[in-house]
Amino acid sequence: MPYQSPISPGRSWYEDTAGPRPEYRALDGDRNCDVVIIGGGFTGLSAAAHLAKAGTNVVLIEAYRFGDGASGRNGGQLGTGQRAWAEDLEAEYGLSRAKALFDLAEEAKAHLIEFAAANQIDIDYMPGQLSVAHKPRYVDDYKAHADIMASRFSYPHIAFMDAKETAERLGSTAYFGGTRDTGTGHIHPMKLVIGTARVAAQAGAQLFEGTPSTGIVSAGGKVRVSTPRGTVTAQKCLIAVNAYGGTLEPVSAAHIMPIGSFIGATVPLGADSKVLPGGESVDDSRFVVRYFRKSRDGRLLFGGREVYGVNDPKDIHIHIRRQIVDLYPALKDIEITHGWGGYVGITVPRKPFVREVMPNVISAGGYSGHGVMLSNFFGKLYAETVAGNRDRLKLIEDLKIPPFPGGRRFRTPLLFLALNWFALRDRI
Ligand SMILES: Cc1cc2nc3c(=O)[nH]c(=O)nc-3n(C[C@H](O)[C@H](O)[C@H](O)COP(=O)(O)OP(=O)(O)OC[C@H]3O[C@@H](n4cnc5c(N)ncnc54)[C@H](O)[C@@H]3O)c2cc1C
Repeated sequence: MPYQSPISPGRSWYEDTAGPRPEYRALDGDRNCDVVIIGGGFTGLSAAAHLAKAGTNVVLIEAYRFGDGASGRNGGQLGTGQRAWAEDLEAEYGLSRAKALFDLAEEAKAHLIEFAAANQIDIDYMPGQLSVAHKPRYVDDYKAHADIMASRFSYPHIAFMDAKETAERLGSTAYFGGTRDTGTGHIHPMKLVIGTARVAAQAGAQLFEGTPSTGIVSAGGKVRVSTPRGTVTAQKCLIAVNAYGGTLEPVSAAHIMPIGSFIGATVPLGADSKVLPGGESVDDSRFVVRYFRKSRDGRLLFGGREVYGVNDPKDIHIHIRRQIVDLYPALKDIEITHGWGGYVGITVPRKPFVREVMPNVISAGGYSGHGVMLSNFFGKLYAETVAGNRDRLKLIEDLKIPPFPGGRRFRTPLLFLALNWFALRDRI
């Protein structure tokens, strides 16, 4: 039987196409190090790679296998800027802080591409992103956004598309206009996971899979992380478990909520397909966003968040087919070869969560569906912090992230109600 992530539903197309996925042994015995990292997704692996390259003695423990959480299974879209539009951040924080946050995200994008190139990780990068309005009333916002990005944020790569251009570029008349961003693109995320782990290991990081942290204690200037077969004692700890942390650490759990997101992959559509002839990725204006793109070999990878519980991978096929047919009726009988899902870590204001949750213990996550480039970059910023420069991580730490209302008992039902309300609004 092929390996299946025990914590995320369905076997992904990425797992079948990433090439060899080396296994790392489980921790057996006690270790002392400078930094212990909990969680082997983009955040943790990137931090391990950057720390080890800087000569830090680092141990990373992952409960299952690297990439079994969101990092190996996502939509692969880099996007541009933070998840919130730069003009919305400007309205909230003023231009200079909004610009600093935008510039940080742009550096994150450049970092991901440069890191992959410098370390010979072939991430199947494909350029271009279309962001499209599913209601006519949003079209003007996209037009204004393109202008603002060029004039106030010195980002000239976004152009407005009218309904005709949108239909041509998508191969679908389901949308009313939008923007085309030629300064970003999309990747094969599992290849980046595997490559980053290799870089970290080669730089001297001690990487362990199959090693869940069962507790964290910070006392007397030391952090002790327990696991079933050994304790790691370190000067510092990074918690990089994002949506998959459960109750490991209560402050992170109160601020980061897991919500399911699901993707289906079709068979290759063929060279004469009208779907996305330019190869861009797409995200739409729904609150319960739809995101899709073609793979290098011409499959449609179609993602959507579902507000209803989807447990059986077979149900993923049904939901995804329904969404594909909304946009591409001609694909009603297309074979869907893979259906899988994962958990996105969201915060109340949809901005990342970085906080020192105990002395010398920093938790990072809550990228709210925008973590492909940010999580990789936060690993680098964490390494900078360990080296003594916390200024840039501080830009994110200073964002005000309240906990989810409702406490442990009621926050999930409350979120469920809220998501249903927004899903309803998407339809009216
Ligand atoms: C279906 C889907 C589509 C998405 N699409 C996009 C997209 O197109 N663009 C975008 O920017 N973002 C997207 N995202 C979000 C993005 O994938 C995440 O923001 C990013 O991967 C987060 O990385 P991470 O390392 O912080 O967390 P993860 O990759 O989730 O890693 C956390 C790891 O911690 C481990 N862990 C948990 N508890 C413990 C413990 N006690 N001990 C040890 N290890 C533990 C887990 O096993 C897991 O491997 C998507 C997410 C999903 C699920």
